[in-house]
Amino acid sequence: MEAAEPNYVRAEARSFAVLQRFGIDAPNFEIRDVARGLDIAVKIGGVSGGDARIVKTKDGRGIIRLNSAITDPARQRFSIAHEIGHWEQHPNLDQGYLCTAADLRDYGRSAAEAEANWFAATLLMPKFLLPPDVFKQDPKLEFVRTFAKDFGTSLTAAARRFVELSNQPVVLVASNQGQVAWCAQSKTAKTKYYFLKVGIPIPPDSVTADVIRENATDIRSDKMAPNVWFPTYRFDREAELFEEVRYSPTYDGALTLLWIPG
Ligand SMILES: [Zn+2]
Repeated sequence: MEAAEPNYVRAEARSFAVLQRFGIDAPNFEIRDVARGLDIAVKIGGVSGGDARIVKTKDGRGIIRLNSAITDPARQRFSIAHEIGHWEQHPNLDQGYLCTAADLRDYGRSAAEAEANWFAATLLMPKFLLPPDVFKQDPKLEFVRTFAKDFGTSLTAAARRFVELSNQPVVLVASNQGQVAWCAQSKTAKTKYYFLKVGIPIPPDSVTADVIRENATDIRSDKMAPNVWFPTYRFDREAELFEEVRYSPTYDGALTLLWIPG
């Protein structure tokens, strides 16, 4: 059976409607107030086998439960926004949705999870609140870091939103234990088919491979031939790739921006 395609247009329309309904006109708003306004209680704990869960009670109210292991406020905000996304878009809430860490980051697992993620990203980082030059910004993690701080999201969520909106050919690569966990592309990168398969090893000559070897936690960047990352593609001789990476030894995870101007 063919899997249903996620409806991103509807997801963004629903998040916009929620923002309008609650008169939200500034970033980093209190997501718990939004939940309360929708008659959804948010509780910590009481969920296992996933990061977050939403159910609808018989009298029509909602209950979101967050795994107590998630203590980072930015991750809690995204999880709550994601569950509100199910509430606003999906039927069958009587049985509820149990969402794993992978559901909360991966847009490819199921249409409902992708729609809940798109709802969350556009609720927390709506276009009308973004800095006006965000589309034209050179892809830089320093900018993404400020963006994440201003909007109360994780670096990963902000980087993903930035890449999706960017006018530049830019690819975001999340890797774990030296392998690609997922990648996201800007529209321009998609038209050029810049893509990395899940599970492939990080190229040994990349900056990402360097920081993993060195356990480095500072943001590092360098310029190189695009074939380091995309060995089977044909590039002009003068083509350049800019790579910037932040590595977290605690999770053995790296977040890498690849930018191929031109
Ligand atoms: Zn979900």
